[in-house]
Order: sequence, then C-alpha cells, then structure tokens
Amino acid sequence: MSKVGFIGVGTMGCPMAVNILSKGHNLNFYDPFINENNKNKLEKLGGSYSSTITNLLEDRDFVITMLPNGNNVKDVCLGDDGLLKQGKKDFIYIDMSTILPADSISINKSFESHNILMFDAPVARLVNNAIDGTLLILVGGNEDKFNDIKPLLETMGSDVVYCGKSGSGSKMKIINNYMSIVSNIVTAETLSLVEKSGIDLKLAINLLTTTAAGKGHLNVSYPIKVLNNDVSPGFKNTLALKDLRLALEQGSLDGINLNTGKSALNLYEEADKTKYKDLDWTSMFNFVKEVNNIT
Ligand code: NAD
Repeated sequence: MSKVGFIGVGTMGCPMAVNILSKGHNLNFYDPFINENNKNKLEKLGGSYSSTITNLLEDRDFVITMLPNGNNVKDVCLGDDGLLKQGKKDFIYIDMSTILPADSISINKSFESHNILMFDAPVARLVNNAIDGTLLILVGGNEDKFNDIKPLLETMGSDVVYCGKSGSGSKMKIINNYMSIVSNIVTAETLSLVEKSGIDLKLAINLLTTTAAGKGHLNVSYPIKVLNNDVSPGFKNTLALKDLRLALEQGSLDGINLNTGKSALNLYEEADKTKYKDLDWTSMFNFVKEVNNIT
C-alpha cells in the first residue's frame, strides 16, 4: 500500500483518486475549490481532505497533480506554499495534467535540483475511462525509475506507456490531441457535406468507415506507402488536389465553409509545383517535413 497525495480532484482527478483508493492505497487530497460531491465521495471511500499542501505532503510516498493548466501546476509546485517549499524530499511527484512540454521539462529541472524525482504522465481518453480505470497514460521521465510508478498508474489506466525522457509524456499527449482535435473538424465538415447532399447519413458513415477517410491514414495508406519508403504513385498528389478542389467547389455550392480543406489546399497547391505532383499522396509526409526543414 502506498501513501498518495492527490491535488486537483475535478472531473478527471476525482474518479482517478477513487480508483487509487479502491485498489487499497491510502489517499489524501487537496483542492481549494473542491466540489462538495467529490469531497464526500472520496471521504466515504476512506480518503482524507487536506486543507493545505503542507498537510497533504506530510508522510506521502507519491504526489499526483491533475490540474487545469500549466500555471496551476507551477503554482502548486513552485509557489510560496508549493511542493518544493516544504523541505520534504522522499516522495515521487507525478503531474498528470495536460500542459506545455516545455513547462513539464522546466518544472522537472526544479524538482531535480531538489533531488526529487518527477514524471509527466498526462492521460488520453475520456472521463468514462477515468471512471473505469481504463485511461491511456503517457509517461515522460527517468526510465530506470519508471517501474517505481507504474503499479500506481495502473490503478488508473489500462495502458501505461513510457514515452521517453522528461517532457515526452506531455509531447505525446499534445501530438495525439492535435491529430484528434483537427480531425474532429474535418469529420464535422464531412458530415455537413453529407447532410447537405441528401445522401443518407447512416449509409455515408458506413461507407466512410471502410476507406482511408474514416479508418485513418495511419491504418490504411501510410504503412504500405510512405512509411514503407514507397512514394511511387498509387494515388497521385495532383489527383488529390483535383478532388480536393471538387469537394471545395461542392461545399461552396452547398454554402458550407470547408476551412480545414482550404488550409490543406494551400499545401497540395505548393506540392503540385514540385516533384511531389506525381508522387503518391502519402508523400505529403515528406513534403511537410521538407517545408519545415526536418531532415
Ligand atoms: P477540472 O477543471 O474538472 O478539474 C480541475 C480541478 O483542479 C478542479 O477541481 C479545481 O478546483 C482544481 N484546482 C484548480 N487550481 C488548483 C490549485 N491551484 N490547487 C489545487 N487544485 C486546483 O478539469 P479536468 O477535466 O479534471 O482536467 C484536468 C486535466 O486533465 C486538464 O489538464 C485537462 O486538459 C486534462 N484532461 C481532461 C480530460 C477530460 O475529458 N476532462 C481528458 C484528458 C485530459
């Protein structure tokens, strides 16, 4: 059994703390803006509320933060009454909030200078997964010490993945969210086109989920082409450009603003002026790297 201090018991933090308690660990929690329902729930399960960070930290083996943003994390760690001002060193600190990787790295350096081990371990998936204990947890920090925190993280997540040195968990989390947040808009724009077209939505969704559109390029096209070092033309960029223009024209006729499509159009048009014109559309990975000077 470990002694865990949990800071920030909101939408995600509360069910995560519940799962730690339900696996038999001892848990104190601190949250100056706590929701009474969450407080009652955790107390019923044996958790105890700490009114200050000093009280929370007293005899803890681990401290976890699950806070809205990087400024909150900096306050809790580096502020006047923060974790680093308490003089205690024999605990491991795990930040599970989603914050800028540069902040994770600089906060980690501060902990390192106090000889305290810190990991960034943000979570992917949704609140239901926080409740079920099936989060995906992306960990950055000292690899040799990863096994010291893995069992505790496994009380909250079904997939606990070491991603690399300090900041790598935060980087992987943001990379994942970039892709899913942007593709959320493409999905919304696509289904708006469907609704306007008069085609049955269910039928369209059934079809879209059988192609690269709905299955995702990482499942369908990239593994057999560009990631396999093959950019010989299957579907050429110039044809992709033609079809994107068709879709944008259809959107314009239907009065739908296809913003992500317009942004993609710029890149396909640039590629069309180069050797990429007649290469496979997955070669856009190489083109984007080239444009961004990634060797
Ligand atoms: P939330 O706002 O519901 O909870 C945050 C909690 O932190 C609140 O209870 C708040 O009172 C507390 N808090 C704020 N400042 C504090 C401080 N200085 N000291 C102590 N406690 C403080 O947010 P959430 O949805 O639980 O998200 C937490 C983190 O998890 C965020 O970084 C978010 O991006 C990330 N996340 C959220 C979800 C989701 O679906 N909600 C999914 C994955 C990751």
